[in-house]
Amino acid sequence: MNETNGMLAGKTVMITGASSGIGEAAARLFAAEGAAVLLMARREDVLKHLAQEINDSGGRAAISAGDVSVAQDVQRAVDAAREHFGALDAAFNNAGFAGDDLAPLHELDQALFDRMMAVNVSGTWNCLRSQIPVMLEAGKGAIVNTSSTAAMGATGAPVPYVAAKHAVLGMTRAAAAEYAAHDIRINTLVVGTTRTEMINQVVDAYPELGPAFVARQMQKRMADPVEIAQAALWLCSDRASFATGSALAVDGGWTAG
Ligand code: NDP
Repeated sequence: MNETNGMLAGKTVMITGASSGIGEAAARLFAAEGAAVLLMARREDVLKHLAQEINDSGGRAAISAGDVSVAQDVQRAVDAAREHFGALDAAFNNAGFAGDDLAPLHELDQALFDRMMAVNVSGTWNCLRSQIPVMLEAGKGAIVNTSSTAAMGATGAPVPYVAAKHAVLGMTRAAAAEYAAHDIRINTLVVGTTRTEMINQVVDAYPELGPAFVARQMQKRMADPVEIAQAALWLCSDRASFATGSALAVDGGWTAG
């Protein structure tokens, strides 16, 4: 059980990729910290179950199932946050796709490139485009985009994933500069290897990669999803009032090594 401090009391936060892994952990954590959470991902049944669990334990959660690569789905989720809870104070744009095919660039299916760009890059773009107008109206806001150590260099992940996460980092920095004067803070998390469905898929396909994934990290283990969610929590909260445009490494020391 995590200790809670009401870090998001009174706030409404939209979380994408909330049906598993880091997003699911964030949904529980943010709700426990006092936020009303609007959960988005494609698997509606999973989201319903999670929202029910949060509501049953005294939190506030609503869902809007959809695909982040579809602008209308994202807009619907933002609208749902306002309809259910009257506001959108913060967003954790965390949905992502890496695939489990580590074939070299020239052998990788074109469709995989397209999907990695659609989910990671267009998905983040769609979120920013729908969330920022609401925050401009409110006169403040906080957005956290999930990037990766793959935004820092060649991690061994597929080339399109590395490119996509570099794009998320670039978008974060440029958008942070555009909206700082409007009191909208935009940051990204440089996430290291984390034990989620995404990593399990890759390790199932390539078992030898389990130890390789953590070899460069100073902390020789995978993160628990909630350890990443804790960093997102801080960035979404008012305690991070002087953090914008940052690429916060939560990577067991990978970036520094
Ligand atoms: P998971 O596979 O557990 O979660 C991915 C989430 O994204 C799911 O909730 C999935 O839900 C959702 N999602 C995928 N595609 C879409 C889509 N098109 N529209 C809406 N939602 C979508 O992985 P993680 O929790 O690990 O991933 C979270 C983020 O962390 C990603 O951005 C990932 O790139 C990043 N990351 C993860 C690392 C790791 O080691 N695990 C390392 C570095 C970064 P659904 O299928 O229901 O749509």
